[in-house]
Amino acid sequence: MRVLINKLLMRPAIPFTLVLLLLVGTSSVIFYVERTLSEIEEALPITLSKQERDIRVLVTDMGTLVQSIGIARTNQAPGNFSIVLRQIDEMQQHLEVIRESYRFNDVLGASAIHAKLNPAIFDINIWLTEGLYNFEPTSAQILKIAEMRAKEAHTEAEILLLQVGKTAIDVLTAQADRIDGFRNIMILTLAVLTIMTVGLVMLGFRLQQSVLALKDSEEQIRYRANYDSLTDLPNRLNFIEHLSEAVSRSRRSPGHTALMFIDLDRFKTINDTLGHDFGDELIKQVAIRISEVIRETDVVSRLGGDEFTVLLPDMTDEIHASIIAKNILASLAEPFNLFGHEVYSSASIGITISPDDGEDANTLLKNADMAMYEAKDQGRNTFRFFTSQMTDRARHFLELDKDMRRALSQNELEVYFQPIYELRKHSLIGVEALLRWQHPKRGLILPAEFIPVAEETGLIEEIGLWVLRRACIEGLAWLDQDLHPSFYLAVNISMRQFKGGFDRRQMQQILQETGFPADKLLLEITESLLMDEDIRIKDVLAEFRRMGIRLAVDDFGTGYSALSYLREFPVNTLKIDRSFIHDIGASSNHRRLVEAIITMAHGLDLMTIAEGVETSEQDALLSELHCDMGQGFFYCKPVNVDNIKHLTTNKKPRLVLFDPAKKSTKT
Ligand code: C2E
Ligand code: MG
Ligand code: MG
Repeated sequence: MRVLINKLLMRPAIPFTLVLLLLVGTSSVIFYVERTLSEIEEALPITLSKQERDIRVLVTDMGTLVQSIGIARTNQAPGNFSIVLRQIDEMQQHLEVIRESYRFNDVLGASAIHAKLNPAIFDINIWLTEGLYNFEPTSAQILKIAEMRAKEAHTEAEILLLQVGKTAIDVLTAQADRIDGFRNIMILTLAVLTIMTVGLVMLGFRLQQSVLALKDSEEQIRYRANYDSLTDLPNRLNFIEHLSEAVSRSRRSPGHTALMFIDLDRFKTINDTLGHDFGDELIKQVAIRISEVIRETDVVSRLGGDEFTVLLPDMTDEIHASIIAKNILASLAEPFNLFGHEVYSSASIGITISPDDGEDANTLLKNADMAMYEAKDQGRNTFRFFTSQMTDRARHFLELDKDMRRALSQNELEVYFQPIYELRKHSLIGVEALLRWQHPKRGLILPAEFIPVAEETGLIEEIGLWVLRRACIEGLAWLDQDLHPSFYLAVNISMRQFKGGFDRRQMQQILQETGFPADKLLLEITESLLMDEDIRIKDVLAEFRRMGIRLAVDDFGTGYSALSYLREFPVNTLKIDRSFIHDIGASSNHRRLVEAIITMAHGLDLMTIAEGVETSEQDALLSELHCDMGQGFFYCKPVNVDNIKHLTTNKKPRLVLFDPAKKSTKT
């Protein structure tokens, strides 16, 4: 069948001929039908019966005329004579009508009757009106020959009438035969057309099927050429294409691409001791586990044997590769169930980064392979970067992550608070909660060192909730004091928290647990959050606003400040980044910039806070520029909860200006 289809496919003339035949067939049928119908119509029985009736009337009239002439001859009363003349007149009119209505090729021969009767009526009329051979028109002689002439014509007409009846029957029989033939031909033609149409449809269907089958096999061939048959992962060829593409993309964009080379440890032992079926099953399960750990945009491939590669494109920081490597190792460390047997496995991973370590696929593959051997040398079940610096960085990074998890459970984290002052009267208006880590060995660690790591690993989601809860618990203690009516507690929330699902439900739970009022809480978010395309974040922020929580944009001016976003988002406050404040006294450019930000913010009904105010000059200038609030070492450094308690319990919490030289003693 397949051979036949292929043959058909090779001859496109076949469907074409079929279509042509169909067209010719259909048009012939239409032509034939049209012609036959009009012919049959021309000889319709209704026409026949009208002709027959007309002829019959003529013959009867002629008979009557014969009688009337006979009566006029035997009883030569003038009344009888005028009856004859009137009848002649009527017949002449009737013959006139017949001449007009029928052609000489009429079916029944109305014209033949006409030809018989017309001359007879003409003769009789002449004789009866003008006379003949000196006989008077009303004379018995004239009436006699008129009667003879009429009789003769009547007889001939009657003979013709008999023929007419026979002709009518002949015509009707011929019509019936013709209709029968027509019906048979139509049935035959329709049958042929139906067969041809069905044939055409089937041929089309077959063609479609064979084209699909060809496509299928083409796709299968392509799939087999690009994918590994055991794991269905991209194979080496496909992977090299992905890699080259990612490398050339990373040359154009600022991101990094990481290439991971994964080799199972002691896979040969499993193959040798348990057999190849077990080996294959293990490879399949490893492929699934690796695929589950990586991001959607990453590409995992099987190069062959027990070798896998993972391509991690568009990484903001190459150190992320270490988290993924760690996760892959952790997922492979779980026992595998191979046909009911519990088997343990592990892998060694080599990682290289593009463009730093190389800018072409071959170099990168070689690098990753070398790094993988280094990992094997280091005792397997581990990963190594191609450069030792990256490996060191990753080690530090992952150690910090591990330490942070411990810190969270061992209560090593602490929330400090830094006061924020209203600049007009220098009265305390709020405090910002800032995280600190009291490391048992390294002492106090500032957030700049560990928060980025927590953001990368996702631990910030847990830490962030902890800070919020802690700050609310501490903050509640100050609220019953004589504070500024707009006093607020500010807490930093990182983008990763929102991405991780921080929402109204979590927020409400903390507020309920701690009893902290929503309208005294201010969340500090980053500019990048406003720029994020995730519509859900916008909704969450709007919900927070509806709860009465205030929102501030932190470090304003350092991100991509698309000002239109400020209108779209329900923010209340801009915190002008300390890099602008730092030079506000020395640089008129910075001063103008800060002034512009303040004017713009006020125009949008936003409050402004100057961050990092360190001198009285900056403080005075900011007041002059109508900045609403200030925060910085000039007023007070971030302090632990005991010190902030002292500040807030002061009945009149006014700023006590202090000598910057003695700043350190104050914090
Ligand atoms: P930030 O939110 O802009 O906080 C202000 C930072 O500026 C604090 O640094 C504070 O100590 C510092 N600062 C305040 N006044 C001055 C000054 O006059 N001069 C100078 N040079 N610095 C001043 P810190 O506490 O080291 O925090 C750094 C950043 O870490 C914060 O910047 C914030 O982005 C982040 N962070 C701190 N705590 C948390 C937290 O609980 N969650 C999250 N997601 N991020 C936090
Ligand atoms: Mg902040
Ligand atoms: Mg800031």
